[in-house]
Amino acid sequence: MSPRIKLLPDNISNQIAAGEVIQRPSSVVKELLENAVDAGAKNIQLIIKDSGKTLIQVIDDGSGIMSEDLNLAFVRHATSKIRKTADLYTLSTKGFRGEALASIAAISNVEAHTRTSKDEVSHYLKIEGGKITEQSLSTQPNGTSILIKNLFFNVPARRNFLRSDTVELKHIIDEFHRVSLAHPDINFSFFNNGNELFDLSIKETRKRICSIFGSKWDNYLIPISETTSLTTIEGFVVKPEFSKKTRGHQFFFVNNRYIKSSFLHHAVNSAFEGLLRTGYYPGYFLYLTVDPKSIDINIHPTKTEIKFEEEQSIYSILRAAVKHSLGIFQVTPTLDFDQDKSFEIPYSLHQKKPSFPTIEVDSSFNPFLNTSVTFKKQKEESWRTESLNKKIDINSNDNSSNNNNELIDVPKKKRVFQLFLKYIVCPLQSSMVIIDQGRAHQRVLYERFLSSITSKKSLSQQLLFPLEIKLNSKQINEYQEVKDIIESLGFKIKQKKESIFLIEGCPENFPHSKIEELIESILSSDYNEKIKENFSQADKIAKILAKKLSIKTGKNLESEELHSLLDDFFGCKETRVSPFNKPIFITLEKSEIDHKLN
Ligand code: ADP
Ligand code: MG
Repeated sequence: MSPRIKLLPDNISNQIAAGEVIQRPSSVVKELLENAVDAGAKNIQLIIKDSGKTLIQVIDDGSGIMSEDLNLAFVRHATSKIRKTADLYTLSTKGFRGEALASIAAISNVEAHTRTSKDEVSHYLKIEGGKITEQSLSTQPNGTSILIKNLFFNVPARRNFLRSDTVELKHIIDEFHRVSLAHPDINFSFFNNGNELFDLSIKETRKRICSIFGSKWDNYLIPISETTSLTTIEGFVVKPEFSKKTRGHQFFFVNNRYIKSSFLHHAVNSAFEGLLRTGYYPGYFLYLTVDPKSIDINIHPTKTEIKFEEEQSIYSILRAAVKHSLGIFQVTPTLDFDQDKSFEIPYSLHQKKPSFPTIEVDSSFNPFLNTSVTFKKQKEESWRTESLNKKIDINSNDNSSNNNNELIDVPKKKRVFQLFLKYIVCPLQSSMVIIDQGRAHQRVLYERFLSSITSKKSLSQQLLFPLEIKLNSKQINEYQEVKDIIESLGFKIKQKKESIFLIEGCPENFPHSKIEELIESILSSDYNEKIKENFSQADKIAKILAKKLSIKTGKNLESEELHSLLDDFFGCKETRVSPFNKPIFITLEKSEIDHKLN
């Protein structure tokens, strides 16, 4: 007999839900700050002890919670922010799931004081491990104060996996930056262990940025302002000469909500193309306003991605707006505004880059397919600082500028090895980076292909024996569309008869045996449809080629191949995710290993 099915008791289901919403102290900080903002507060105070591990408190002067609703606020799916489905499409608040307080209360001890403008006194509620243990009147001013102690006291696995105070504090500071940058019209203060870290008074955005990052930032910023029927874009980009080697200053806000968006990021990056030294990242603080109906924020509670209805157009508008400002501020005198104003596809084929990294003979397309290929000889000490900086940046796994030493493990020697014919392991001083070889290689190839397409400077190699391929009408249509792109990669294709095509040339060092298959994949719309979030045909094609030509799991890599791949990989513009948005590596801290062996 199969076991009977039963509903989980609330305390268990709350704890499970909590795992989704609250991953570390910074998640609590984010939720509490957002609730205070949603409550219309003008003053918000964040107080933490031991990087939030001991105590987190947020005090606001917002609307307060009506005493009869106070218990309900801590019940899962209880929210005052939406009533019906349609409200989801006009949302102006940060919260709407009614999950945060219930989740927090399931895994910590909570004390709340709250008072609305109608109340004579404030109301106090104490919850321990999800159970109300005290309720009384108190004497706090209008607004709400929520205090969290003993976070994860009943989830030892989480608690044990918290990282050092420095790292957890860094995560909290990141959240604080995001909320306070999104709301320069609110006063914020922030204390850790009694020390004031930030005291931000109401200021316009530029001054808010300077109060957070330092007054010299006033010289770094170039304003952006663009209004179209689809979106308004305001904010600043950092002058290229002040760009940093970390991604710490990259902020997108959509309708005052901090979001991450690889495609918006891509748009800004491409506007900066040719202006940044290798290894430097553009800095930006960009505020987009769009019709709430045109975005979908109904995603995983802790994720910060959103979906745009008009992704492609927003991409082009953003890119053009940034280029325009860079041009006005004479950062780049060679820009062609007319062309950009037409909002052409990203990685425009018309665009010319001043200097272009030519395809390297050794490892251009698939260094590991052909054993006769010679790899760049790398000396042990060639573990370049530049690569390291990137690696450290990604190690920290977020967007902070914090350069605490704990994260900077500079290995003296490049000791790397392959594991399970699938991963590349790089031991650092107090952690270990494990890289997926296939995804890393996909990333390398993808960026290289995109760059060839953009610059149109790829070298072509004539085929001794031209290959004849037969295309069906669908493929022929597709071919007409992407002809320019394929040619910019170095392919030479001629139409012989109606459906017969001759491939006479291919990119230099391209594996000949794969030419036919690859051209067919490019022209097969089935395959194309599978690639979501494509920005353009060029992007799509670069993805297809990267996927097909990248090394796969099971491929044994010699030491030189490993080093060559890593070198190429750490030279990539983006190292965190593959072209298909899959994570490329993880970091395993020594402390995690120590814990497991405890
Ligand atoms: P959500 O924010 O998704 O609605 P929460 O669990 O974060 O869910 O909060 C539940 C409810 O408690 C909110 O909808 C709001 O009505 C109330 N609330 C929470 N924090 C505050 C606050 N600081 N001030 C006023 N009301 C609050
Ligand atoms: Mg909330």
